[in-house]
Amino acid sequence: MGLTNHQFRLAARPVGLPRDSDWDRVEEPVGEPDDGQLLVQVIYLSLDPAMRGWMNAGKSYIPPVEIGEVMRAAAVGKVIASRNDRFAEGDYVTGPFGVQEYCLSDGRGVIGIDPSTAPLPVYLGTLGMTGMTAYFGLIDIGRPQAGETVVVSGAAGAVGSVVGQVAKILGCRVVGIAGGAAKCRMLVDELGFDAAIDYKSEDIRKSLRDHAPDGVDVYFDNVGGDTLDAVLTRLARGARIVICGAISQYNSVEPVKGPANYLSLLVNRASMTGMVVFDYADRYPEAVARLAEWLAQGRLRTVEDVVDGGLGDFPDTLLRLFRGENTGKLVLKIADE
Ligand code: NAP
Repeated sequence: MGLTNHQFRLAARPVGLPRDSDWDRVEEPVGEPDDGQLLVQVIYLSLDPAMRGWMNAGKSYIPPVEIGEVMRAAAVGKVIASRNDRFAEGDYVTGPFGVQEYCLSDGRGVIGIDPSTAPLPVYLGTLGMTGMTAYFGLIDIGRPQAGETVVVSGAAGAVGSVVGQVAKILGCRVVGIAGGAAKCRMLVDELGFDAAIDYKSEDIRKSLRDHAPDGVDVYFDNVGGDTLDAVLTRLARGARIVICGAISQYNSVEPVKGPANYLSLLVNRASMTGMVVFDYADRYPEAVARLAEWLAQGRLRTVEDVVDGGLGDFPDTLLRLFRGENTGKLVLKIADE
């Protein structure tokens, strides 16, 4: 077809925040699909805090991206050629296409999506990986009951904004923790949270005394560090903490800061459980159906932060997550729909 692909490959394992020198920009011709393959033009790239972890060496829930490999990324794109029975030219698809303009895929992990059900970026957020994380982390691990108090950190982000709204739908009192007055206002005024705490200007422990006077029944933790430690001091008896992420620690060059107040789990007969969304892959259709229904009913709002740029904007766009510059699901648009 004579197309040229541009890619970001991992050049070095970062120390602290990723730097420009951690990336190799590569240009190569786009190949033709073999039997069973499809060629996808990437339109929207998903930016995820987990990408920082995938850049590290060592054992995790998924193998690291090796030096020289195309950076792993979920994306949405359009099939431009196909020799795979499941997909035809012109189909919109989501899958692990990587940080590149074109992807030759064998179809593994690729799902067809319908742009008439929801705008394409929503398939990377509320109807994609972050929505699945919010849904199963909250419902399966948090097990919230109507009338309970649910606290979520990273509340204005992709996962957190869905967690809080789903907890409201389930009849809970919901308190969000986020950075800055504007994000906190949005949580209460636009997403229906009962209260929001600006961790940059408030003392979380003190504010929780006001907003969760009977204690916290479910804490959905996206940030770890000092925030986790503060919420631990306000647990209700039998509380469930969902360890979803710890973004405050991902770029730390010091050892990870664990919770000093963990004995609160003992005192309150509470639990703290890690979750990895991929374990729920068999049940994604259940979550997609329910989230899509709530969206259609107007009970759930989906928030996307779409950066309209090009592939070259990838390194700086990724850093927005760690600077707290995104609201809702951060997506980089690299081609027209
Ligand atoms: P996101 O919340 O949309 O974006 C990241 C947000 O984190 C930023 O907007 C910022 O919000 C906050 N943040 C950044 N640095 C921080 C710091 N030092 N301290 C406190 N907050 C900080 O990202 P997301 O995709 O929804 O992911 C949220 C969390 O879920 C991450 O920890 C991610 O790793 C985790 N996750 C886990 C799974 C799983 O399977 N376990 C799957 C998906 C995501 P503020 O402006 O409010 O600081």
